[in-house]
Amino acid sequence: MYGPPKPGSKIIIVGAGCFGLATALALSSDKEKNYDIHVFDRGVIPIIDAASTDISKAVRMDYGTNKLCMELAVDAIRVWEQWNKERAENGLKPVYHNTGMIAFSDNGELSEYDKQGLETIREAGYGEFIEELSSEEIKKRYPFFETAVNNGYDIAYFNKVGGGYSWCNSSEAIMHIYKKCISNGVNFILGKESGCFESNLVDPQSPRTVLGIKTIDGNEHRGDRVILATGPWTPGVIDMQGQVIASGQVIVQFKLSDKDRRSLNDLPVWSGNVSKTGCYGFPVNDDGILKIGKHSIGYLNPRATDNISIPRTQASNPGDTIPLKALNEFREFLDTFLPLTTPLDVFYSRVCWYSDSIDGDFVICPHPNYDNYIVATGDSGHAMKFLPNIGQKIKDVIDAKDTEYTRAWAWRNKEAKLDFYDRPLLIQNNHKVLRMVTLEELKAKINC
Ligand SMILES: Cc1cc2nc3c(=O)[nH]c(=O)nc-3n(C[C@H](O)[C@H](O)[C@H](O)COP(=O)(O)OP(=O)(O)OC[C@H]3O[C@@H](n4cnc5c(N)ncnc54)[C@H](O)[C@@H]3O)c2cc1C
Repeated sequence: MYGPPKPGSKIIIVGAGCFGLATALALSSDKEKNYDIHVFDRGVIPIIDAASTDISKAVRMDYGTNKLCMELAVDAIRVWEQWNKERAENGLKPVYHNTGMIAFSDNGELSEYDKQGLETIREAGYGEFIEELSSEEIKKRYPFFETAVNNGYDIAYFNKVGGGYSWCNSSEAIMHIYKKCISNGVNFILGKESGCFESNLVDPQSPRTVLGIKTIDGNEHRGDRVILATGPWTPGVIDMQGQVIASGQVIVQFKLSDKDRRSLNDLPVWSGNVSKTGCYGFPVNDDGILKIGKHSIGYLNPRATDNISIPRTQASNPGDTIPLKALNEFREFLDTFLPLTTPLDVFYSRVCWYSDSIDGDFVICPHPNYDNYIVATGDSGHAMKFLPNIGQKIKDVIDAKDTEYTRAWAWRNKEAKLDFYDRPLLIQNNHKVLRMVTLEELKAKINC
């Protein structure tokens, strides 16, 4: 049975992404408990292929019927703004950009998900953030969405500045929280051998007790608690009993000319009827990059030895792009939604990995096989926005508190839906549409 650690306990955190660093910050901020915290990861922070490492991630409070996540997002936004203030005082650029978000639906009616989301937002008293927009209002306010409207994306709502849907520079945010951890005295052990978790050290006399971890370099590190925050790599390093699965999700980036950049000056975060198309995107960043993502069931990369899907990334496979099917879906959607991209080459593409849980909620709880071991994973593609405050919630689990959140994210004693594990494979070299595209194919068709 899991119990809270004593003050002064040594706590090992494996993984320095969003969950791991947020945990380290929350634990190290509790001066009374005075925990001795050691974070392990495979390389230099921000870890190049971590899910948390990217130029942008959406920060939204729109969560369908999920009130817990909505409230957590509202609280996170308060801290994001606080971080921006701290950064401004130190002459640093903001990490959080409050542009608001426009969510499109089609055929004159908001999607069910959006309707539910608006109901939840209004019931909670945040209705002032919402503006519902007709096709004429969309075109007037955002001339670059005229084609989208004409192609049926003709109704939307805007969640505006103040509590809405915006974005963070996620790699920079990771650096921000990492520096806070360092100044709080957190110890970091980073490196592809010295920082890489190999196995748990289990007490031979008491198999439910983990004594610490062993790293790839052969060293053993003892601790009172181990927190496994290895994101999509988690089911590959510990038996997650099918509760989470690593799914590869695709993004593309375009590099815009100054003229195109100017024409998209007022572009907010957007979703293009995400429940149907999966597509969403971000404002153009300071480097002129326009990033578009697609949220879907994704792709699996089963390991030969046991069929468990593990991330395959450009760090170990530098030539990887995205499957042809994914590129075709992006092009087809964008041709009707944001045709400014049609004559542009895809400047960069990437498969980035979710740790999908069986129901989309996080899995942050004691591991059922052990008495002193916590897993913090199952991000399901939506945890980055909580970087500023998820650590406190993970700390509640470590301190064995009982809250609405610890209950929602506890180990599920239920099976996944039958089709949960049934997703296309990432690497199918000779497949007509599932093979990865060549760099030449990323170029605009009209240039080829
Ligand atoms: C394409 C895409 C788009 C997304 N968009 C959004 C969005 O718009 N908004 C949002 O809120 N969220 C978004 N997310 C989700 C968000 O990125 C994740 O929820 C978050 O990054 C998860 O953090 P994590 O710490 O669990 O995983 P990660 O950030 O992947 O961190 C896991 C860490 O564990 C380390 N690790 C793995 N194995 C080992 C080992 N053996 N030893 C030591 N260390 C190890 C890795 O190196 C890594 O640093 C998106 C994710 C993807 C993939």
